[in-house]
Amino acid sequence: MNARRLQARWREGWWTGARPCASPHCGPRPPGELPSLVIVHSISLPPGVLRGDAVEHLFLGTLDAGRHASFADLRGLRVSAHFFVRRSGEVLQFVSTHERAWHAGVSSWRGREGCNDWSIGIELEGLEGRSFVAAQYRALQRLLRALARHHPIREVVGHEHVAPGRKHDPGARFEWSRLQRALGGCGLSIWPRLDPSP
Ligand SMILES: [Zn+2]
Repeated sequence: MNARRLQARWREGWWTGARPCASPHCGPRPPGELPSLVIVHSISLPPGVLRGDAVEHLFLGTLDAGRHASFADLRGLRVSAHFFVRRSGEVLQFVSTHERAWHAGVSSWRGREGCNDWSIGIELEGLEGRSFVAAQYRALQRLLRALARHHPIREVVGHEHVAPGRKHDPGARFEWSRLQRALGGCGLSIWPRLDPSP
């Protein structure tokens, strides 16, 4: 681990291991609410195009809807996530973890609705049904360790788990077992749980 990685810290909910891109698409969490859940998503714009800056523009509210036919439905959409992990492993941060980002929509987990209130949203550059790459798993693991040290995070789940039937990301090709193996002993419960090894 190099010196730069060791020095990554938090400042007002901004992680110095990420490139900051402050989005206006956020708001306060309920008073006294601390993030205890991480929700993993996947996104690419246009869907399946794993490069370019369209996702960044979407979360910043600056996407030109005329740029591509598939962007028409995104006109006026105000969404964000706290983090975006690119295929290269680069991490961008759009919203302070102290604030509420707008990533989960209508959602519930363990009988509680409105997951945005107490969660952190991490988008992976990708597409449901496609694999993710090693650089993304490494970056995600590093980010999750940093989050677990800074916030009382208990569980890591997918968007598909908090909005079943409505959302399907990150999808079947996301390797939850890989996260579980890498983050053993970190105090995080990775969902879905695998059967314990015999
Ligand atoms: Zn999602």
